[in-house]
Order: sequence, then C-alpha cells, then structure tokens
Amino acid sequence: MSRTFDVVVVGAGPGGYVAALRSAQNGLSVALIEREKRLGGTCLLRGCIPTKSLLETARRLDELGRAADFGIEGVGTPTVELSKVMRRKERVIAKLAAGVGGLCRKSGVEVLQGTARLTSPHTVQIELTSGGEETIDARNVILATGSSVRDLPNLTPDHRRILTSDSALSLTELPKRLLVLGSGAVGIEFASIFRSFGAEVTVVELMERLLPIEDEEISRELERAFRRRGIGFFTSTKLARVETSGSGVHAHLLKADGTMETLEADALLVAVGRAPNTRALGLESAGIELDQRGFIPVDAAMRTRVSGVYAIGDIVASPALAHVASHEGRIAADAIVGKAVAPIELDRVPAAVYASPEVASVGLTEAVARARGIDARVGKFPFVAIGKANVQGETEGFAKLVADGATDRLIGAQLIGPHATELIAEIGAALATGATLHQMAEVIHAHPTLSEIVGEAALVGLGTPLHI
Ligand SMILES: Cc1cc2nc3c(=O)[nH]c(=O)nc-3n(C[C@H](O)[C@H](O)[C@H](O)COP(=O)(O)OP(=O)(O)OC[C@H]3O[C@@H](n4cnc5c(N)ncnc54)[C@H](O)[C@@H]3O)c2cc1C
Repeated sequence: MSRTFDVVVVGAGPGGYVAALRSAQNGLSVALIEREKRLGGTCLLRGCIPTKSLLETARRLDELGRAADFGIEGVGTPTVELSKVMRRKERVIAKLAAGVGGLCRKSGVEVLQGTARLTSPHTVQIELTSGGEETIDARNVILATGSSVRDLPNLTPDHRRILTSDSALSLTELPKRLLVLGSGAVGIEFASIFRSFGAEVTVVELMERLLPIEDEEISRELERAFRRRGIGFFTSTKLARVETSGSGVHAHLLKADGTMETLEADALLVAVGRAPNTRALGLESAGIELDQRGFIPVDAAMRTRVSGVYAIGDIVASPALAHVASHEGRIAADAIVGKAVAPIELDRVPAAVYASPEVASVGLTEAVARARGIDARVGKFPFVAIGKANVQGETEGFAKLVADGATDRLIGAQLIGPHATELIAEIGAALATGATLHQMAEVIHAHPTLSEIVGEAALVGLGTPLHI
C-alpha cells in the first residue's frame, strides 16, 4: 500500500525546502523529493552561493591589489589559484547543503532522493536514485522544480569553449579572454569575477545598455565602472554567429549600425536566462497547463488551477530569485493549512547584483513611476560624499530614492556602490512600512557608516540636502 503525506514537495531548492520546513512547522506530514544528491537546488549548488563565493575571492583579490593605497607594503602581486578557489566554493556549498539536510531531519521532513512525476493530482511517482520506484499519495502537492540554463539555437554549450553558468562554476583553467553573452545579473557577475581573476572580458548585450532592467542611471554608472576596470562591452549588439576551434571561439557580432565585428576569445559564456523545469513532470496527468511563456499559472496563494496542487519559485512567472521562491514556499505552506496569506508584492522585492560595483534595487524606478503617472520625486546622493566610503576607498556610485510626490511616500530605490546589496535592506523595510521621505530623513544612522547615504538621499529628495 502506498504511503500518504499531507504535503509532498517536489524539488529541494530555496522554494521547495522552505515550503517543506514550513509545512512541517504547521504540523503536517511532509515528503520532500529531490533528484540531486544534495539539497539546496540551483541557488545553493549552481547559483547564488557558488557565484558569491567566487565574487568574495574576487573582492579580496581586488582589495589586496590596492593594499599599497592603504599603506600596506609587501603584498606583492596577488594571483588566483583557481583549484583552491573552487575547493573553497565547494566547502561552502557542502556546509550549507548539509545544513539544509539537518534542518529537514530536525523538522521531521522525509527526504526522498529521486525524480518525481505526477501520475494524478494527488499521486506522485518517484524513480528512486537508489533504484526502483515508489508511489506516494499526497493530500497536497507543492511543485518547486526550479529552472535550468536556457539554451540558444545554434549555440550548444560544449562546456569548454561555450560555457554556461553551470560550467563556468567548475572551470579548471582560467580563460585568458572571455566573452560574456547577456548582461543580466548572472552575466554581469561572471564578467566581474573573471576580470578580477585577470581575464580580458567583453560583454555582448542585445539591449541598449548593461543591466537593461535596472534604472538607466544605474546602467550608465555600471558601464563607467566597467570601463575603468577594463571590461569591454558591446550594447545594442547581436551575436550573429559563433565558430569554435581548438584554440577558442570566433564571435561574429552584428552591431546596431549594421556593421559586423569579429571577436576572438578562449571561451564564450552564454548567460541569456533560464527555462522553467516543467518537462517530464506529469503535468498533463494532473490537468495542469502552462501559460504562453511556459510557466505554471498560479493565484496569489500559489494555487494552480487544480485543487490541492501548488507551484512556487522559478516555475511560476514571478521574478526568478531565491528569496522570492522561499517566500512563495511559505505562502503555499500556509495556504494549505488555511492561514490567511498576503500575496507577494513584487514592488517590494529587492534585487541584487554582487559585481564590483554592487547594484541593488527595490520598488519602482523613476521611469516606471512616471510611466504609471506618478509625480516621482527623486533624491540622489553620491558615495563620494559619504565619509565611510572615503575611509574604505570605495567612492564610486550613488543611492537614488524615488518617492511619490503627492504623498511623500517612498516607492522605490536604486543603489550602485559599496555594499549596495546590504544597504537595500533598510530601504526594503521602509517600503514595507509605507515610510515617507520625511520619516527616512529622521532615521539616525551611526556615523561613519555607508548607511548614512540613505538619510542623505532622503534629504536631497526633500530639497534640504546637507552634505552636498
Ligand atoms: C548563476 C546564478 C546565480 C544566481 N544568483 C542569485 C542570487 O544571487 N540571488 C538570488 O536571489 N537568486 C539567484 N539566482 C536565482 C536562484 O538560484 C533561483 O531563483 C532559485 O534557485 C529558484 O529556486 P527554486 O526553489 O524555484 O528552484 P531551484 O533552486 O532550481 O531548485 C529546484 C530543484 O528541483 C529539483 N528537481 C527538478 N525537477 C525535479 C523532479 N522531477 N524530481 C525531483 N527533483 C526535481 C532540481 O534538482 C532542483 O534541486 C541565481 C541563479 C543562477 C543560475
């Protein structure tokens, strides 16, 4: 006889394992099915954590390179030992993955290793990694199967010359010249890492600026910073054709003015997005249809159109971010036990790019606010006028607060510069509580801290700048 669980979660990424833990916390019996040996999903094994581990090495390397500016002698020329960098990254992953396993054990979540597919809305068949099959009954199913690298036609990764974010994270040799296709967060982070590691890096972007979904001033500042770092880029440029040879890649670029340019590099990293993992999941057996973009449609409580089946994370149309997946996991788990759930407010979800310089944003940009007919009031303040940024020798970038001119309420913020990805948290909290620019200007920040930039930008927005 098959076993029955209150909740069966398919996929143990940041969406799935959080949904499983929360469901167990809600007093339900939970099975968590994962096809990989380790828990944690893309984020932990091939995404957020490994990239940040490499970025941390890159940051420390850059700092050592500037040691003399701080009066430190004897550092010499620091270089990267890639095998050691990768081993460190693996240790971080292993520790955190074991931590997720420990949390599941402690919470009584039963982890089943294997590949799951639905055979009906409430029956899950698992091809067990250890061999054999098990079919379990589920009063509720939470689908959290995430996403995979999106392939481009005629650009098949060989993981030697044509890389994906997965293969770039396990390189054994540093490319001397790297081309990066795509300037979203992933492309920009890898460009930043490999430049710090000593490669000649060029980014190719189809849209007219780097990080095209961010505020335009942020893109321009990033472009200036990349130029200073010697990172080349082509915007409004299409990769028309690529040839690979034993020695590398020849990339033929079609530029906005119609001219062609050929670039040679040791490797091309394709970073053009992700595709939801919905294939071979038995969705048709459960009666679930995909939307036009290939995502599973859900309502505000993460319910699919089929009763008792939920979907969260990268397989639904919300932003493909780990913290969104986790939040959706909590929503689904709470909806199952009938708790009142608040829908995720996308205008309050922070986004972060951990390159050098860091970029972070939350809420509306000035342009989006104006497009929505809001009389946007902007307060912008540069890091160069912040004492702590000068102490740290990291003065590039700025913070920009966007408020609704009619109500004085904060509606968004964009930052570029040192620790922008940490500084965004205060602004996220301010947005969540409906704070006004006046209230933000009243917050007392410790001096000297980078966080002072938030209060200073609020003062600029109010027309009463202090330190500029
Ligand atoms: C290079 C890179 C860097 C990133 N950096 C960041 C970052 O800094 N911050 C951030 O917020 N986001 C980042 N992301 C995005 C983030 O990783 C994803 O948004 C997040 O992992 C999505 O979580 P998820 O739970 O929906 O799916 P995933 O993390 O993809 O997990 C899904 C899991 O389901 C399993 N699975 C799939 N099908 C089945 C099946 N049939 N049976 C059993 N198991 C199955 C998979 O093996 C996987 O473990 C990054 C992504 C990449 C690629």
